[in-house]
Amino acid sequence: MKGQVAIVTGGGRGIGKAISIALAKRGVNVVVVGTNLETASETASNLQNIGVKSIAVQADVAKHADVKNIFDSTLSEFGKVDILVNNAGITRDSLIIRMKDEEWDRVIDVNLKGTFLCSREAVKAMLKQKYGRIINISSIVGFMGNIGQANYSASKAGIIGLTKTIAKEYANRGITVNAIAPGFITTSMTESIPENIKNEMLRSIPMGRFGTTDDVAHAVVFLASPEAGYITGQVLHVNGGMYM
Ligand code: NAD
Repeated sequence: MKGQVAIVTGGGRGIGKAISIALAKRGVNVVVVGTNLETASETASNLQNIGVKSIAVQADVAKHADVKNIFDSTLSEFGKVDILVNNAGITRDSLIIRMKDEEWDRVIDVNLKGTFLCSREAVKAMLKQKYGRIINISSIVGFMGNIGQANYSASKAGIIGLTKTIAKEYANRGITVNAIAPGFITTSMTESIPENIKNEMLRSIPMGRFGTTDDVAHAVVFLASPEAGYITGQVLHVNGGMYM
């Protein structure tokens, strides 16, 4: 994978950072995208220390103009995009009777529309080179549902339909599109969950432990590799057996 170019949205921290590092360790040059330029730049310099080229781009993936800028910056810096990892995601939890329109809209906009906007630009670039790997980060919650996460679970289930459709549209053009559905992964997104709920979740994981960001990153690297070229439209569950 040496010399390939990847865009990782939300690559500055958490799961996205682990994905960026894992790709860089395979020699992939990485464009780190995030809302916070400082965090994204810090990760980009970590990647440079690993020995690859890396730039940070500040963007809100829900905005068309920002997404256009991600791809313009990538193409002017590297001339191609081999891998897109749609990892940027947010939660705005609340029971549905209390969920505000803005909470619904923002989560759908970032998680689902952001994945659509970035994938559309990526496919355009990948068609020219007749090669590409798109990996969308969904969630176990998109399959099981979760109290307080109507917006989030709908966005993550929507990503599955989107993944399968883009996979079908470009299967004969060298582009594969797959999703990863992580279970409970320890990051800042999950730190705020109350201890009693965390313990309850732990009991429902057959492996008896929460996932690590590296557990997800390794799965991404596999799907992003040339060796995964006959796999498309699939969901790889990374959840310690929590959902089968
Ligand atoms: P995190 O909050 O630590 O990181 C999210 C990243 O996305 C941040 O870098 C942030 O800057 C970026 N981001 C947020 N909104 C953005 C926007 N509008 N435009 C561009 N970037 C934006 O979260 P995480 O736990 O690392 O989650 C990463 C992905 O994995 C998310 O899609 C999340 O839904 C998914 N996921 C996480 C878990 C878990 O247990 N942590 C489980 C299943 C799925």
